[in-house]
Parts: sequence; C-alpha cells; structure tokens
Amino acid sequence: MNAPESWLTDLPTLENRFAALPESFYTRLAPHPLPAPSLIAVNRDLAAEMGLPSALLDSPIFPELLAGNQPWPGSQPLAAVYSGHQFGMWAGQLGDGRAHLLGGLDAGSHHWEIQLKGAGRTPYSRGADGRAVLRSSIREFLCSEAMAALGVPTTRALSLVGADYPVRREEIESAAVLSRVAPSFVRFGSFEHWAARDRDLEVRQLADYVIDAFRPACRDRPQPYDALLRDVATRTGELIAHWMAVGFMHGVMNTDNMSILGLTLDYGPFGFMEAFDAGHICNHSDHHGRYSYRNQPHIGQWNLYCLADAFLPLLKQPDMAKAAVDERYGPAFEQHFEHLLRGKLGLCAALPDDEAFIGETFGLLQQHRPDFTLFFRRLSDLPATVDREQQAKTDAPVRDLFIDRSACDAWLDHWRARQAQTPWPDEARQAAMRAVNPKYILRNWLAEQAIRQARAGDFSEVQRLADCLRQPYAEQPAYDAYAALPPDWAQGLAVSCSS
Ligand code: AMP
Ligand code: MG
Repeated sequence: MNAPESWLTDLPTLENRFAALPESFYTRLAPHPLPAPSLIAVNRDLAAEMGLPSALLDSPIFPELLAGNQPWPGSQPLAAVYSGHQFGMWAGQLGDGRAHLLGGLDAGSHHWEIQLKGAGRTPYSRGADGRAVLRSSIREFLCSEAMAALGVPTTRALSLVGADYPVRREEIESAAVLSRVAPSFVRFGSFEHWAARDRDLEVRQLADYVIDAFRPACRDRPQPYDALLRDVATRTGELIAHWMAVGFMHGVMNTDNMSILGLTLDYGPFGFMEAFDAGHICNHSDHHGRYSYRNQPHIGQWNLYCLADAFLPLLKQPDMAKAAVDERYGPAFEQHFEHLLRGKLGLCAALPDDEAFIGETFGLLQQHRPDFTLFFRRLSDLPATVDREQQAKTDAPVRDLFIDRSACDAWLDHWRARQAQTPWPDEARQAAMRAVNPKYILRNWLAEQAIRQARAGDFSEVQRLADCLRQPYAEQPAYDAYAALPPDWAQGLAVSCSS
C-alpha cells in the first residue's frame, strides 16, 4: 500500500479565496477528526471534473481527507459567519455551525470550493454538536446530485463518509461528513449579517469579493452593486421557476439558506411533489406552511427584499434596491416558468393563451391530484392526434392517474387542440418532452429505503439510487421500480428540520 504522502502529492492544491477577506468574516479552525471513517459514497464523475486522480478515490487516505482527519494540501479551513431571517423572523447571528470551508481549486472553466459538512463544532455552533447524521447526509448527497442531473443549479456533493460515532437527535444516530462543492457558499444572510450591524464597509467588501470572484461582468456596469443585486434577483427567479417545474420543495427557504449565486443550497427537509397539491408542505416543522410549494415564488421575493435592504448602503438611491428586485425577479420567474412549462407540455412555439392553458393544467392537477412526475412523463408518450375509438386505450397511462377519467379526457382534448395550433411531429415532440419531464426523482420513499439499509450497514442502495438519479430523463429498465408511486408503508413518512 502506498504511503499517505504519495497520495497527497497527486492531489490538486487548494487555495482559499474566501480567506483573503478580513478575519472578521470567519474563524480559522481545523475540522474535528471523526474516528475510523469509511467511504459511503463518492461521486466519480464530479471528482473527475474536479481533476482528482481516480486512484485517490479508492485509496485509504480518501475517507480520512474527506472526514477532515487529514489536512488537504494548501487548505486553510475556516467557518464563515452569517446571519439571517428564519421563518420570517430576524434570527441574528448564525454562521457555519457545522461546516468547514477547506478552500477551492480550478478545473476547466470551474472553480470548486470544498466544504466539509458535519466535521465538528465551530464558534457558530450555538450549543449544537457540529455534527450531521447519516440519514440527512444521505438525503443531501442524493438530492444535490439528483438536482444537478435534472439541470437545476445546485451545490454538489463529492463524497459521503460515515463512522460508528454516536450523535444525539430524537434518538442516537451515527455521524457522517458530506463534502459539498460549489463555486461559493456565500448566502443572502452573509450580507444581512453586516448590514444589521451597520457595518457598511464589510457589506461593500463582501459585494466586491463576490463581484471580483464570480460576477466580473458587474464591474463593467455603471453601478456594479446594483448590477449584482439584479443578477441575484434574476438567477433566484429562474432557480425557483426550475424548482416549481420539477416539483421540488426546499422546505427551509430562510435567507441564510439562499445562495448569492442562485444555487439550491442546504438540503434539509426538502421534498419532491408526488400526488399534486400546491399547498403541500414538505417540512414537518413548518407548521404554517410558509415554505409550501405554492409559496416558494413569493418567499423568493421576500428573501430578495431582505438582501436588497442589506445592499442599501451600496446603492446611490434607496429606491434602487426594491426596484432591482421588482424589475428582475418577477419577470425572470414568470418567463422561465412559462418556458419550462411549455417544454413540459410539448409546445414548440409560444401563443398568447399559453399562460391560461398552463393555469388550466395546474387547476386539473390541483383538483385531481395525480402524481406530478408521472403525469408529465406519461403525457410525453401520447400522440398529438388520436382515433376516438382507441382513445381510452391510447391515453390509459395518463387516464389511470385519475379517479375521474372524464376530467382527464376533457383536459387531453384541450391539450390536443393546443398541439394542433403549433404542430410538431410526434416523435420529435415526444423526445423533447422526455428530455424535460423526468422519469426518476428522489421520492421520499426511495431515500428512506436507502437510509434504512445504510443504517443497517449496507450502502449499496445509496449507490444504486445515486446511479439511477444521475440520468433522470433516460429510460432505465433496470431501475423501473424507482419510478413507481409511493408504496403503502411510505404514506406516513415525515421529514423535519432535525439533521
Ligand atoms: P439549517 O437549518 O441547517 O440551515 O441550520 C441553521 C443554522 O444552524 C446554521 O447556522 C447551521 O450551521 C446551524 N446548525 C444546524 N445544525 C447544527 C449542528 N448539529 N451543529 C451546529 N450547528 C448547527
Ligand atoms: Mg442552513
């Protein structure tokens, strides 16, 4: 076996750009070792994209590196400070209570920062243990990769290591460390932190950091900070439109969980829509449904107003902040949502009545509650014209999702009439629809099944599910069972903030 040093010499050296900010933005500290870590899952495609040598992934040093037990060459680990609004209330200082940012590396045109989540306490832990449990770490590993494969902007997950190390939640669970990667983990709350303290200088330093490192085009605009705020508003609008189109619910859209780069960030009690209900609340701890599916677009705007408030000291006139959000967020959300829904419905060109037809479609889903994912996936296979005699048989895959078949038939008549207005040959349309209507999503029952096996020491289901979710739009006959409706045992599954 090679000596640890020889594995380390092949590793790309990290550079922590965030550490170039003044010390007030973070605390430097090493991750806390996790005894006897073992590798549960690794994302080999991502590792290759990051330029990590493949032999490293199978080496004994890899779990040690990604548990935080062995320092990564060049790393300057730190925990960042941030604040935020949680469930609509100002929560004051939060910060990386269980995340250590090691540093970043450049590969191709990407910059990847590596963060260890669950590697022990930091000055921002606020009395908690700094650890993450296996259950929630598996959920984050699977979902960040599923979202990336769906084409939704997101932080990524490189690896998951676990150990037989007890962590107390409602019951005793075991610890895991997830390595997350993203160009940056800066949050809306990173700005709110300084604005709440009237520290205009730090707000400006942070904005300059984000612009110079990630949004250099804003520097060339007459008002770079206004340009940055507009960029965030646009990307956040498009991000939430994308969530809605794949039926994703974040579950905890607090401002400290909102990425300044418009990425899906901090997977906790998230969910994917199954039987459609716009009022669905995926987070068992969200008693008033603040973060229900239908509220997500509004909450995105609310969060951006918080960010806009934090930007006030940077803008020439106070009304520029709200204007930046109003002029960018709503239009970005609406245009992107309509674009994505047109794709899901297989409409090759826009018509003025499309908004109404999309509304009619959601009305149908709300009233009859078919499985959101299967509805669009099965619709993808239907022909645009149908022989009346054969219709019940041809349309059966979609009709079978409805108790009231006649309601489905009436809607399908409208869909076919709309198809006739902008004709598109079946084969091409069906292929285009299958490319945007996933067959496989991370259903709660699938995650739960993988978690139950993992807790019993068998991680193979995590890997299998990750493999399947890497190609959500492909037909994968070997994984057909993963496209099924939730089984009876899964009816009562609830996911809370506990992680
Ligand atoms: P979240 O709800 O996961 O977005 O976390 C909100 C805040 O609580 C963040 O500052 C986290 O770092 C912190 N936090 C959550 N769980 C823990 C934990 N087990 N130990 C330390 N800090 C935590
Ligand atoms: Mg968080």
